Amino acid sequence: MSTAPRSTLRPDTSGDLLQVQDLTVEYRGKGFRPKAFRALTGINISIGQGETLGLVGESGSGKTTLGRAVLGLAPVTAGRIVFNGQDIGNASRRERRVLSRDLQVVFQDPYTSLNPAMEVGDILAEPLAVQGVPPLEAKRRVQELLDQVGLPADAMRRLPREFSGGQRQRVAIARALALSPKLIVCDEPVSALDLSTQAKVLDLFLQIQRDTGVSYLFVSHDLDVVRHISHRVAVMYRGEIVEQGPAGIVTRDPEHPYTQRLLFASPVPDPDRQEQRRADRHRLLAIQKSQDEQAGALA
Ligand code: ADP
Ligand code: MG
Repeated sequence: MSTAPRSTLRPDTSGDLLQVQDLTVEYRGKGFRPKAFRALTGINISIGQGETLGLVGESGSGKTTLGRAVLGLAPVTAGRIVFNGQDIGNASRRERRVLSRDLQVVFQDPYTSLNPAMEVGDILAEPLAVQGVPPLEAKRRVQELLDQVGLPADAMRRLPREFSGGQRQRVAIARALALSPKLIVCDEPVSALDLSTQAKVLDLFLQIQRDTGVSYLFVSHDLDVVRHISHRVAVMYRGEIVEQGPAGIVTRDPEHPYTQRLLFASPVPDPDRQEQRRADRHRLLAIQKSQDEQAGALA
């Protein structure tokens, strides 16, 4: 069954939106690990407008650290991070607040980013209020956002725990979209979801990109997910990027032995179940692809 990358958008790669140049990140040691720990070494990546760079690698390879460095949450020991023409490697807190309009994040677990005590309408209105959007306009924007992520308008009055995992992730995506960012760092945003929900949420990411031209730095340990969502893929291994290129080539015909191993890595110990998982996912993706094509033909 075909698993060709589905991103049909032709992203603009001429003017790069994000450029990470020779980035090294060292975490300062503490407690039983007093020596500084080098989590990233000499990282070079770039992302154009409307483009998705998939970042794949096993647990502990440094994917989250790279995402956090871009967001200003990990220490930049050496190198540069240039976003939208501005060196943001050591941006101040105030500069970060301004930046947050253009640079957003979606995490694996929406519980860590959604205040459980707040109604969804308030969660979505908060970033708008922080940026000084008047309440009436904010309310209209919240309705628009819910619609954009496929949630009913009455979701506004409900608490995060009243939603399923997939719906909660839709809320987190809506919040990330509130200020129409240029880039969203997505750190394993579908890894906690079951397969059919995964496929739907991945589709939502693609749809949003088609509608808004947003770019993604999309982190996942799962090569299938990354292949599906990305234009280009970078493979991380022990804090370095060992291979980088077009999604179809890197994920199907990789050069680096580590990527080849990843390609055949088994996320589920039982090989029969793994085969089943792959088959299920490919079937789901194919169904959605044909639905998309039908919708496209009707539009
Ligand atoms: P991944 O997201 O690919 O699983 P991470 O970026 O989370 O990888 O971690 C990369 C390495 O950096 C790991 O060895 C991890 O233990 C270490 N690390 C991550 N965060 C910190 C931190 N705050 N302090 C010290 N070491 C860290
Ligand atoms: Mg991680």
